[in-house]
Amino acid sequence: MNFGLTPEQQTLKEHVKALLDKVCPLDYVARCDEQLTPPREAFKALAEHGWLGMIAPEEYGGANASAADLAVLLEETGYHFEELGLWLFRSYTFGCYAILKNGTEEQKRFFVPKTVSGEFTYAFALTEPDSGSDAAALRTRAEADGDDFIINGRKQFISGFDIADYALVALRTSQQEKKQKGISTFLINTKLPGIEVRRIPTLGQHAIGTTEVTFTNVRVPRSALLGELDMGWSICEDTLRYERLCLSAARIGAARCAFEFTLDYAKNRLQFGKPIGSFQVIQHKFADMKVMLDTAQTMVLRYAWLMDNNKSERADTAVLKYLIGESYKSISDTCLQILGGYGYCMEYPIQRFFRDSRLATIGGGTSEIQKNIIAGTLGLKG
Ligand SMILES: Cc1cc2nc3c(=O)[nH]c(=O)nc-3n(C[C@H](O)[C@H](O)[C@H](O)COP(=O)(O)OP(=O)(O)OC[C@H]3O[C@@H](n4cnc5c(N)ncnc54)[C@H](O)[C@@H]3O)c2cc1C
Repeated sequence: MNFGLTPEQQTLKEHVKALLDKVCPLDYVARCDEQLTPPREAFKALAEHGWLGMIAPEEYGGANASAADLAVLLEETGYHFEELGLWLFRSYTFGCYAILKNGTEEQKRFFVPKTVSGEFTYAFALTEPDSGSDAAALRTRAEADGDDFIINGRKQFISGFDIADYALVALRTSQQEKKQKGISTFLINTKLPGIEVRRIPTLGQHAIGTTEVTFTNVRVPRSALLGELDMGWSICEDTLRYERLCLSAARIGAARCAFEFTLDYAKNRLQFGKPIGSFQVIQHKFADMKVMLDTAQTMVLRYAWLMDNNKSERADTAVLKYLIGESYKSISDTCLQILGGYGYCMEYPIQRFFRDSRLATIGGGTSEIQKNIIAGTLGLKG
């Protein structure tokens, strides 16, 4: 096992950093956040430089790269702007990984090249108003009608649905005793008649944000089905594992950005005639954050290695998701405290990390649910 970056990964990181330093500086990020606008220019630049195709096979225009390579890309993107990293991750997870693993040859040929070029972007719609942590209790249904399906119901908290071209949507296709059965996954064009989208105002994640999506008699062809009918839950679970690696990589990049900004501030902010970074209590906060960052970064690479070697278990993903979510939240909170009043002020970037990081212990499965999963593998019964 290798705990460092390969020379190729180091080069990848440097190239992405050089590009994003130019197209995604802090003042651009602040503007996207304030004006509720997606970082379209930065996303387009990444696509134009080929950074949307890493994991796709060469025949679909990709570079056949590993999950570890992708983690390096997403960490660097998340360092510049977490929401840009999350936008990119949706293309990789839903437009590449899920389709390459479960799609027909026709679906792969239709979706993957257009994902790699940045023409198609994605959302993932699992959560509903009455099924969050208990995601398999979803009720939005797709009923067969000749060669088509008709969809009715509502999805809640669907990030970026309003700016996506397609969404991977989990739907109930039959009623079975076990709720995990009878769920199917569909790739749905987000602009179909009968789809209504409402943006939900949130504490953070302002640039792309999240939405409520209502389906009223939405007709989709059978070819929109991804994988086998009624067998979608295992696709959701597998895709969520990949999602958690990507989310973690982007978020630990964002945590590193908050840390470095604050370190610089602490070296320059003078109080009582000294830099605040010379006070031991502040130094200890940095030491605690450094331990968290190093641990989290190592865990991201470890988990990517497990994925690349087909060794990842459900509990490994839960450990990663829990550790990164709590570390990012804690680091952002500590950074805000170190900046004092300026940390609380909207003119400084740390408040954005504080707001955005709050989602890291909720979205994609809460910290409590991750702990349930971890404990469940230890032979403890609830
Ligand atoms: C900004 C944002 C973006 C999101 N983006 C997406 C998206 O793109 N796609 C998507 O499908 N979903 C998305 N989600 C949904 C997200 O995954 C859910 O919010 C999350 O899974 C929790 O569900 P819930 O909010 O319904 O909370 P609930 O499930 O109602 O949980 C409420 C509280 O109870 C706790 N709890 C629940 N069950 C248990 C249990 N068994 N043991 C212990 N504690 C428990 C939870 O940990 C939590 O603290 C997003 C959410 C937000 C806020």
